Amino acid sequence: MNAKPATNGSSAAVIEVQPDSVCGEVALNVVVAERDGTISFPGQQNIGLVELNPNSKLPPPTDHGTLESIWHSFDLTHRRVQAGGWTHQVTEREMRMSTEIAGVDMRINKGGFREAHWHLADEWAIVLKGTARVTVFSPDGTMFIDDVSEGDLWIFPSGSPHSIQGTGDSGVEFLLVFNQGSFSEESTFLLSDWLMHTPPDVLAKNFGLGPDSIAKLPKNTPLYIFASEPPTQTLAEDQAEIAKRFPMSQKKFTFKRKDVTPTQSNGHGHVLVVDQRNFPASQKICSAICTIKPGGMRELHWHPNASEWQFWIQGKGRMTVFNSSEDARTMDFNANDVGFVPKMAGHYVENLGDENLIFLEMFATPDFQEIALNQWLRAMPAQVTIAHTNLSAEEVDKIAIPLENFV
Ligand code: MN
Ligand code: MN
Repeated sequence: MNAKPATNGSSAAVIEVQPDSVCGEVALNVVVAERDGTISFPGQQNIGLVELNPNSKLPPPTDHGTLESIWHSFDLTHRRVQAGGWTHQVTEREMRMSTEIAGVDMRINKGGFREAHWHLADEWAIVLKGTARVTVFSPDGTMFIDDVSEGDLWIFPSGSPHSIQGTGDSGVEFLLVFNQGSFSEESTFLLSDWLMHTPPDVLAKNFGLGPDSIAKLPKNTPLYIFASEPPTQTLAEDQAEIAKRFPMSQKKFTFKRKDVTPTQSNGHGHVLVVDQRNFPASQKICSAICTIKPGGMRELHWHPNASEWQFWIQGKGRMTVFNSSEDARTMDFNANDVGFVPKMAGHYVENLGDENLIFLEMFATPDFQEIALNQWLRAMPAQVTIAHTNLSAEEVDKIAIPLENFV
């Protein structure tokens, strides 16, 4: 059986049923149903959703079972809007299977701050648009400050307090990734929240300040995101000011993408793996930043050490997740969507658009690990692969070994 990508509700036209279909009886029944008119939709439809999710409306015949949704979108979530910026999140509450990772998409206007805070989870970030100045203070008493722009990453370890300020003319938008599925942007430890919930005389004693000074501190509602003035000092001036009082951190908590070349690339795309090997400050979260050209595909593979949380930055495509027990599910993805692959589950990602597909594979683990199906099939003695696949020795020999991870 050959099934071209089912990009609309009429995939029957591109399916040829072979008498000895290797896809099994269930799949064959689906193909027959597509042919004999059983599959039609005479009743109500949500056309907007159908157009976005053709592979949910009419799954490829190879899909089967009860795997829950592997798709969500930031465009479906509540957006918390404040003077100075906005934020929204996709967590375990939106995707029940995603217990290891949650994500937040946030915008801050020029000069605005994401209030200085800390939290239980580690925070990994990629700048999507604009520029920002970030600070993070470490338990060893060292300070780090840097400017980041589009494509740059940062990591703020669990418990280390940090601040983010928009500096570009149009501010900044960034994606945050946390190694805690139940993370919530609504429950971080905020500086202003703490000050509001400490007796004023204790604050006076702690800071060595008089009541008039304590009366100036924020009251009523935590700041969280707030408008402010852009930095008046250059980065170098800020660094010099900090260095008068505190040592600067020797650890680098930002990662500049322009300084690096892709880990792997070929004619169909490229991938940059960023983990503790090239970003040593990132000990708990790693990523593969993938670009797939039109017609290209991220090959069939799985990750032995973690589940995969995806953020789609640009383009469109589809993914099928195979989760053992005859369970497989295909869904469509567009920019601003989130994808999820359970640990160990086999999957591919196919670019179905006419522009480059750019997406993040995120893992709550120090090292990126992957098993590629093609490599495995070619690594075994040919006789073993032949016995499992019915392919001839010549055909097995033809299976590409794309060290580049794209086919
Ligand atoms: Mn944070
Ligand atoms: Mn993957």
